[in-house]
Amino acid sequence: MSQSAIRWEQDADQIVTLILDDPTQSANTMNALYQQSMAETVKRLQDEKKNIRGVIITSAKKTFFAGGDLKMLIQAQPEHAAEIAAGVDEIKRQLRVIETLGVPVVAAMNGTALGGGLEIALACHYRIALQDTRSEYGLPEVTLGLLPGGGGVVRVVRMLGIQNALMNVLMQGQRMKAAKAKEVGLIDELASDVDDMLAKARAWMAAHPQAKQPWDQSGYKMPGGTPSTPALAMNLPAFPSNLRKQLKGAQAHYPAPAAIMAAAVEGAQVDVDSAFKIEGRYFVKLATGAVSKNMIKAFFFDLQKINAGGSRPSTAEYPSVECRKIGILGAGMMGQGIAYVSAMAGIDVVLLDTDQAAAERGKQYSRQLLDKRVSKGRMNAEKAEATLHRIVATTEYAQLSDCDLVIEAVFENRQIKAEVTEKVAAVGRKDLLMASNTSTLPISSLAHAYPRPERFIGLHFFSPVDKMPLVEIICGEKTSPATLAQAFDYVIKIKKTPIVVNDSRGFFTSRVFGTYCYEGVAMLGEGYPAASIEQAAAQAGMPIGPLAVMDEVNLELGRKVRVQTRLDLEAEGKSFPSHPAEVVIDRMCDEFKRPGKKEGMGFYDYPQGGKKSLWPGLQSHFAHAELAQPTPSQFAEMMDRLLFRQSIEAARCYEEGVLRSVADANIGSIFGIGMAPWTGGQLQFINYLGLKAFVERAEALAARYGDRFTPPALLKRMAERGETFE
Ligand code: NAD
Repeated sequence: MSQSAIRWEQDADQIVTLILDDPTQSANTMNALYQQSMAETVKRLQDEKKNIRGVIITSAKKTFFAGGDLKMLIQAQPEHAAEIAAGVDEIKRQLRVIETLGVPVVAAMNGTALGGGLEIALACHYRIALQDTRSEYGLPEVTLGLLPGGGGVVRVVRMLGIQNALMNVLMQGQRMKAAKAKEVGLIDELASDVDDMLAKARAWMAAHPQAKQPWDQSGYKMPGGTPSTPALAMNLPAFPSNLRKQLKGAQAHYPAPAAIMAAAVEGAQVDVDSAFKIEGRYFVKLATGAVSKNMIKAFFFDLQKINAGGSRPSTAEYPSVECRKIGILGAGMMGQGIAYVSAMAGIDVVLLDTDQAAAERGKQYSRQLLDKRVSKGRMNAEKAEATLHRIVATTEYAQLSDCDLVIEAVFENRQIKAEVTEKVAAVGRKDLLMASNTSTLPISSLAHAYPRPERFIGLHFFSPVDKMPLVEIICGEKTSPATLAQAFDYVIKIKKTPIVVNDSRGFFTSRVFGTYCYEGVAMLGEGYPAASIEQAAAQAGMPIGPLAVMDEVNLELGRKVRVQTRLDLEAEGKSFPSHPAEVVIDRMCDEFKRPGKKEGMGFYDYPQGGKKSLWPGLQSHFAHAELAQPTPSQFAEMMDRLLFRQSIEAARCYEEGVLRSVADANIGSIFGIGMAPWTGGQLQFINYLGLKAFVERAEALAARYGDRFTPPALLKRMAERGETFE
């Protein structure tokens, strides 16, 4: 190989600077070129050791080093286990040579070092990072279903101790800013700029000419003790049970955290080289398993596609138009949240409601969130005041005359929405982008109220807006590509993840979300215990059970949408299939007057100041004695139903063209609906099971529970052709 990912520079002081700079990529990763280059570099370091007094490792990219080679890892199958094991062994051998060279080695991190990138730095004797607020440090492998296999587990455990390593770094894969990483102990020193960083590196080397890792020094003691230290030994048995609790029983679907824990604890009982072997074995098992593929696909490749504008019309044809000022109609729950995230992104906001007090209340919401940020030290008071100042609360439409974008978030009522849209059209600019935050009304029909329907679009936010990462952008029949491009850029500007879908009843997210809730309610109607239904959801990996979530949404509200949808469809001469959940919901609303959480009574009881618990009446009114203890196979089927129902509906959305891409489906389902993250999203779940197996199981479920499980023709076609959702 003639090119190298590492440049070697040596000065008169016999200091070697290794500059990580992969000529084939914009960021450094642990690809084949890196491995080859590092092997050559390590050999040269050994050969020329006599003439070297110290080594600085830094990077010529914007970031220090991005991490493992995910393109390679996503293809790793069980039959590649030996090859992958050899690969990580070699990476670790190289890093081990560096840390035992006998001269000081300093990592000078000029930017983000995550995963494999941080593992290189951990093999250095001292870590200095630039003190900026953008760069991130950490070992986030667990979030991709993996563990740090380049020595990260072994070294962090030896640096910080088992408990701190697991809690602060490994088990949740925290991404930290430089200051936080220093606090945790991953970074030794911060520098103000590159010159300062290199000067500090040299000063440290001069003061530590014989640097060694703590674990290579005699008398080394692991911080917090080893597993045989009585205090730690007493606590260790609680670790796996705490993990089960955190994963809410879904541990079977998340092998990575348990593997990390095992590698950390087992590795702490042996010497460094044996610990590397243990870490390597667990790594190979995870890397060749199916869950890491699902998670790498969703959280790296699909997410990257989306954030890079995969669903946006090209910037060459539709260049970015900066959004500087927006109007928001309705200062209720959604409007006030949209105002806050927009002001935080530096956008001026006109927040309009029917009376001044309501508009002011909406603005007050931002004040509360900003005050909280200030009190937590996450923002200074001056910046908070300036952010609040961007929001103008008003009742006057004239204030909207110079807005780039207006988002309507008034009551979910066609008539009111049409009225406010017409008022905006009367005062707004000709090139104004008009959006609706409706959750149920088709965008094409709302666009009728706007004189330029090509400039009308759906921007479906999720509640609470400041916390939920997703915005579903809905194109109506007449929405133009320029409108979509502008809406997309606004969503990116407010730091949300946009998915783009075509218009349809319930769009993508609400439509599929409904199938999950209804399936759980249908099980209740069949006589399954409510607690088993909620537990089946948790063990399948869903963040919140279908009954709990129905209570949050409100049963009465859901019923109103259903009645309206039926009327609309019947008016179009179409039929609306009934669902077994409807009987249960009608009884809950009419007979038991338990519409949901807001009223303090739904599937759950909500005692004032107390913890919610399932309403005992569910047992007497719905439960069947013979289902009181679902068998393992019944329980497995409950889990299947909750996941299959979502994936089948997502596949239908894809078949109908409501979904425009696989990435939109996977990311939208995880970020917007809460589809179990281990599946990699609703379409990836079908890939994971295999198209053929999925179709067969869906047909079996359809035979037992009805047409809602019938696999769409698209899936059968794909299964026959051996295709997958890419
Ligand atoms: P909300 O009842 O909390 O707020 C609606 C606000 O609109 C109120 O402040 C009301 O005074 C104001 N309003 C009503 N008529 C108006 C008019 N003619 N002119 C100006 N302001 C008017 O409702 P919300 O939950 O914020 O929902 C707003 C919209 O967002 C609805 O279309 C809803 O379907 C949609 N949505 C809601 C959620 C959610 O979880 N709540 C999620 C996504 C989308």
